Amino acid sequence: MKIEDIPIENLPNTSFITIRKFKSLGINTYFDLLNYFPYRYENYSLISPVNKLQEGEIVTVIGHIVETKQQITRRGFRLQFFKLADDTGVVELTFYNQSYLLTILKKGMKVAIAGQVKKFGRKLTIEPKEYEIVNSHLIHTGRLVPIYPEKRGLSSRTIREKMYFILDTLRVSGFEEIFPKEIISYNNLIDEQTAYQKIHFPENLKTAEKAKQRLAFNELFLIQLSSQLVKKEWKKEKVGNKFMLNKMNVQLIDRFKDSLPFKLTNAQKRVWDEIRSDLLKTVPMNRFLQGEVGSGKTVIAALACYLAHLNGYQSLFMAPTEILAQQHYNTITSLFKKFQIRNSKSEINPKSQILNPKTALITGSQKISNLQLPSAKPASSFQQPISNFDIIIGTHALISKKRNFNRVGLVIIDEQHRFGVAQRAELKNKGLNPHLLTMTATPIPRTVALTLYGELDLSIIDEMPVGRLAVKTFFVPKAKRQSCYQWIKSQISQVFIVCPLIEESEIETMKSVKAAKIEFENLKKIFSVFKLGLLHGKMKSKEKNAIMTAFKNRSLDILVTTPVVEVGVDVPNATIMLIEAAERFGLAQLHQLRGRVGRSNRQSYCFLFSEKEDLGILGRLRFFAKTNDGNKLAEEDLKIRGPGNIYGIKQHGYLDLKIASLSDYPLIEKTKKAVEYFEKHYDINQFKLLKERVEKYRRGNIAQN
Ligand code: ADP
Ligand code: MG
Repeated sequence: MKIEDIPIENLPNTSFITIRKFKSLGINTYFDLLNYFPYRYENYSLISPVNKLQEGEIVTVIGHIVETKQQITRRGFRLQFFKLADDTGVVELTFYNQSYLLTILKKGMKVAIAGQVKKFGRKLTIEPKEYEIVNSHLIHTGRLVPIYPEKRGLSSRTIREKMYFILDTLRVSGFEEIFPKEIISYNNLIDEQTAYQKIHFPENLKTAEKAKQRLAFNELFLIQLSSQLVKKEWKKEKVGNKFMLNKMNVQLIDRFKDSLPFKLTNAQKRVWDEIRSDLLKTVPMNRFLQGEVGSGKTVIAALACYLAHLNGYQSLFMAPTEILAQQHYNTITSLFKKFQIRNSKSEINPKSQILNPKTALITGSQKISNLQLPSAKPASSFQQPISNFDIIIGTHALISKKRNFNRVGLVIIDEQHRFGVAQRAELKNKGLNPHLLTMTATPIPRTVALTLYGELDLSIIDEMPVGRLAVKTFFVPKAKRQSCYQWIKSQISQVFIVCPLIEESEIETMKSVKAAKIEFENLKKIFSVFKLGLLHGKMKSKEKNAIMTAFKNRSLDILVTTPVVEVGVDVPNATIMLIEAAERFGLAQLHQLRGRVGRSNRQSYCFLFSEKEDLGILGRLRFFAKTNDGNKLAEEDLKIRGPGNIYGIKQHGYLDLKIASLSDYPLIEKTKKAVEYFEKHYDINQFKLLKERVEKYRRGNIAQN
């Protein structure tokens, strides 16, 4: 049987509980376990005779046990003493509270002990870290020993033993190579089987590195090949509702552009051209629009919705939070209002449907019948069916309900990358194949975006509207907190105050909310002459909207909030952003928060508060203070914290790589070329194993969504 097909249950001498733990980590086969990689190695490779031990050294000693005993201290600790003898002498060692060892390590046995040599009185002893009974080979001592992420109570020791066993069976059954020979030799790769052996049990760090290179190559190759294959499939599809651009539509779109309160930047124009040309094809658009915070993506979305509307089709516009959905709704309705007013003297009837797409807002907390309409509308329209609307804005709840989406021509998803793909699949299941536009401000380096979202076409708004000033950012140490408050009081501006990120679980969210409430009371005293509002994720959407509206129309001066304001909120009048416990945020996330200000032509400021005095933290925050480029920050984040920690990775479904690093640009380039070469010269159907791997990768990836 192929290693890929051997169920993990086949492991001999393995308890049901251990199997269950493996399975909970998604390890179902031998091959899955092989892909559970160590994150470092402990170096126990120095094997020392007892008479050559040196204080401080990390060593392995091999000898026979000549004495064992257990002592119980007055406080009830159990100490296990062992005396170990080799040809050169005897050394003593003590374990703490591991009585079971006495039943494993018995007098007369040949064992290996690894640990650090310490001085105890005048004698040298070993502070034991690992032990094993000496057989034909050493796994836990006497070598570079792999250390694994110890999740679900699985110890590195257990993983190591099972890993060794599997690698041993491999020696018999073997691995077939997944790549054609040319790719192996051209890229100087070691063979896969060796790579798996050496990543887990390397002779030295150099072989470990070679192994890692090979496996990272595999991973990046599979990701990119799989994207390319998906892309090819997609290119064969046809949209359900085809768009056209006749003369009148061109004119109307130009007029809509002219009615905007600003001129599009060159980058916005270029991106709109890319999107428009996609929208006119019969192949559904799958485009990823990336643009710095505040670069103006929403208006691009509005243009796309308008083109759909001119063709008689609906657009679904989804945002990650209710606050944002509400904001998009306000923005879009107001853009079309301006458009209508501007056309009121033209030959077209301003009441015309063409000029005024009907816009609805639906969020999770509202029933379908409870559509929010512009407040001027009479109450009777509240009961209208969804099919009467042209642009439907909401959270993701929008799509999950049983609705008739036959008229949908375009789906836009704001700030949720992978999500789009899953949503599109869902719509397709409903017998519909709309165009899809995914938008994000999360700064992802271009190379990384092309790797992770290779199946999507990429558009980038790399230019800010003219006149925008870079936000001045300052790190505020504890001692300067009061003077910073004083300075803020002297400014005529609106202020965001963001409370610390506590996050993740439901309980943590409650803690965040509690922290924000306490801080709110505190701040009310400090800013006693100002009007303060509190916004947090646990509020009802009505309350949230009321607070946001109050802040937007300047009835509030200061908005105290949990990190819910992070994505997308647009209040151009606010020019000060104050972030508490800034060290808890990733750089990309801080950048998102900072992006809430600097949205007009006035100078804006961002203050980072931190009570921490750790130099690493200060360095990171100072780096942030002097860097305004989101991509640079993302790259730094990638370096310092690894992709798994970049803000929003989970939320955004940014996938977690197992072994390759997204900051390893040379390898990304190399694998990209290799994929191109493969696609040009080979047929995947002739590489059965590779095909299976790609499919497995896809499945795993979809499961992550
Ligand atoms: P984001 O790309 O972060 O979603 P928004 O679409 O919210 O940014 O736009 C940020 C702000 O910039 C909004 O207030 C919007 O009205 C304004 N804006 C967008 N495009 C332009 C432009 N070309 N010139 C001036 N202001 C613009
Ligand atoms: Mg936005």
